[in-house]
Amino acid sequence: MRDYLAKLNEKQREAALHTEGPLLILAGAGSGKTSTMTCRIAYLIEEKGVNPWNILAVTFTNKAAKEMRDRVEALVGEGLNMWILTFHSACLRILRRHAELLGYGRDFAVYDPTDQKTLVKNICRDLQIDTKKFTPAYFLGNISKCKENRVTPAQYEREYGSDFREQMVQKVYAAYEKQLKKNNAMDFDDLLLNTVRLFEADEEVLLQYQHRFRYIMVDEYQDTNQIQYAFVHMLAQERGNICVVGDDDQCIYQWRGADIRNILEFEKDFPGAKVVKLEQNYRSTGNILAAAHSVIACNSARKDKKLWTDAEEGSKVTYCRAMDEREEASYIAGEIGRIHDGAYSGDAGKRYSDFAVLYRTNAQSRTFEEALSRRNVPYRVLGGLRYYDRKEIKDIMCYMRLVQNRADDLALVRIINEPKRGIGGKTLEKLQTLAAVRSESLFDTLLDQEVTASLSAKAREGIAAFTEMITDFAGQQENMRVSDLYDGLLVRSGYLKALEDQRTVESESRIENLMEFKSVIYDYENEDANLTLAEFMERIALLADVDNHDAGEDAVVLMTLHSAKGLEFPFVFMPGMEDGLFPGWRAFDRPDGLEEERRLCYVGITRAKERLWMTSAECRTLYGRTDYTRESQFMRELDPKLVEGDGVMKKRDRTEGQFRDGIRSARPARPFDQLKYARQMTERNAAAMAKTAEENFVAGDRVVHPKFGEGEVLSCEGKIIRVAFADGEKKLALGMAPLSRAEG
Ligand code: ATP
Ligand code: MG
Repeated sequence: MRDYLAKLNEKQREAALHTEGPLLILAGAGSGKTSTMTCRIAYLIEEKGVNPWNILAVTFTNKAAKEMRDRVEALVGEGLNMWILTFHSACLRILRRHAELLGYGRDFAVYDPTDQKTLVKNICRDLQIDTKKFTPAYFLGNISKCKENRVTPAQYEREYGSDFREQMVQKVYAAYEKQLKKNNAMDFDDLLLNTVRLFEADEEVLLQYQHRFRYIMVDEYQDTNQIQYAFVHMLAQERGNICVVGDDDQCIYQWRGADIRNILEFEKDFPGAKVVKLEQNYRSTGNILAAAHSVIACNSARKDKKLWTDAEEGSKVTYCRAMDEREEASYIAGEIGRIHDGAYSGDAGKRYSDFAVLYRTNAQSRTFEEALSRRNVPYRVLGGLRYYDRKEIKDIMCYMRLVQNRADDLALVRIINEPKRGIGGKTLEKLQTLAAVRSESLFDTLLDQEVTASLSAKAREGIAAFTEMITDFAGQQENMRVSDLYDGLLVRSGYLKALEDQRTVESESRIENLMEFKSVIYDYENEDANLTLAEFMERIALLADVDNHDAGEDAVVLMTLHSAKGLEFPFVFMPGMEDGLFPGWRAFDRPDGLEEERRLCYVGITRAKERLWMTSAECRTLYGRTDYTRESQFMRELDPKLVEGDGVMKKRDRTEGQFRDGIRSARPARPFDQLKYARQMTERNAAAMAKTAEENFVAGDRVVHPKFGEGEVLSCEGKIIRVAFADGEKKLALGMAPLSRAEG
């Protein structure tokens, strides 16, 4: 027997040797799915004499495809003509040969997201759609959804198109399709969709590929959407030699169109399918596996399967309920430090890269980054940027820098056209040259109306509003709390609005991060009620400047649970086990939402090989709002026999049943939407400040200021109001100062 077959266990080998007829490998996490599939390919070629040309293996990411190809080549040698590809590249190859049949030229272009955006922008311009109200990203998101569901513009018009927004989407979608065709171009969604259309339209072509691909394999089948499903099915229809590998318990991309039914109904789709369940897990200890199972068993829509392991039971899951998110982070940093230095194994200790912190949302990363850098523990944020490296955080910090110092040209250049103010690269270059010639700051150049007179009306207006805003905030910074200034900048600059209009997953995550920045500000304001902008910026600059560890360095990995799928680590931390955070409140908006969150929890737990920590915070400040929390429903589902620790650490609080019940009853039935609340607060705060411009304050009025307390109005002339507060007289600007009338 071949070496690689001998290494497989019996079940795995059974799957690898079953080469004819439909095969479903329903494999739990860490059971060797990918290994089995790889060996199956090698076996087909080496033992069954199958021509590599007749094999098609598809996966989702380029990385996964490359890894599989490498592994197969390691077994059977290089240079074989095998299609081990992502869905997109397989479809592209097919379309290159037959695009004429669909009315495209063979050399059709493939539009990437940037091209798509340009196209939609042009369409909006032609249709006179205000792209500030309806962004290209908004349209593209909707168009993509349509294509995933095979809804044509004409169908869209018939079935939707009732309200104003939908009509707009319909118009743009129709024009977009027309333009693509005219330009002989396809977008990424088209690659899949058109291949399926091609197969439907031309039987001969379909037959040709059905004939060629005698053996079809799909990894991560649980994450296929409708179109991918159709593609695979049409190809496999004739011979039925299809092998799909997946784990229904790990389907975590339904929110992006993945359809879990594809795997659950495989046996119906291919009658007589052989089903192999790989139930031995080679990754985790007994306790970790049992913990994962006790959680996932709560899902109703699943094939029952249970993993077992030869590995020892190992430690129980450690649970810590910290006081707040800072204590949570410092606990985790402490544990990592302790074990790294040898507290666990007693011997040489562990490598930092053996540790992973897996959180639900990107916004959680900041506290960990801070706690780890405080202890000098190197870390890397995978699949994302470090908190202070994120675009939106840098942008907003540049606004603040500019308020603090108008001469900061660097900051100005970064944000002058962010959000769009009609100032292109060329214009900016000219302005910079001019400023250099006149040896003044760029900001001063922008103030010169003779200079801006030559610009487009849009740019002129944009610059005027921008300079006025910065001047206003600069003049009032000493009278404003940093958090008010922050809210004011976010709203008045239009930055928040621009993100909200995009309505994409990315823009949502940017808003999350911006709201999380308020937690940073509040932290400092809580320590020092009189915090000035300058002081704040100084402290942040130090934090933001933590030197970036080089890529090769041994480092703790931070990432979201979503991006951790398929990976494994000896030591895993899952922080934020709280209702509303994980499961997130959005889970309750969709019927299957909670189950999908639970699968995500299962994915997280099963990443751990040796030890797993789960943590939560009694009190969490997220997006600038502090709340008591309730332990995650998933914590309650976890078999208590498998958990140790502390909830133990904070036992003193737990025994005070009354106190805990108090918290519980104070919680709303539905997890509270903290992010939405934070956004509302920001907008309300900015609106309240703006509203003071309309108030008719007169001498003698009693007013309240969040920073200076209660005071009496001395005079009010134009925009300037003078108020006597306990600690002296202040001049404030109406429309900027967060003043309200004193009650009673
Ligand atoms: P996931 O669900 O996380 O994607 P998977 O099912 O794809 O996991 P693999 O990544 O293929 O699992 O394998 C998990 C681990 O188990 C790997 O480290 C692999 O080397 C090991 N493994 C798989 N099969 C065996 C076996 N028969 N004997 C020993 N180790 C094995
Ligand atoms: Mg895998």
